[in-house]
Amino acid sequence: MARMECRCGEVLSNSTVPNNIELRVYTEKEWDSIMESDTIETWNIPLPTYDVWKCPRCERVYVFKEGSDKAIKIYALEE
Ligand SMILES: [Zn+2]
Repeated sequence: MARMECRCGEVLSNSTVPNNIELRVYTEKEWDSIMESDTIETWNIPLPTYDVWKCPRCERVYVFKEGSDKAIKIYALEE
């Protein structure tokens, strides 16, 4: 569980489960690899490599490397 302040001032938190802040984003290759595994069930799907958060106010998207609390990419809405 974590929280952070978006550049727009909105406080983002993933402490509520489920929430609309944290996105589960997989590459197609990553997803195919998971689906090809014989041991995967709906209850044990691995978390994606990147942790992705989206601000509900300004729609900025923050990308974190797994296990890190420092964003490696920050995308702001252009249009
Ligand atoms: Zn924001």
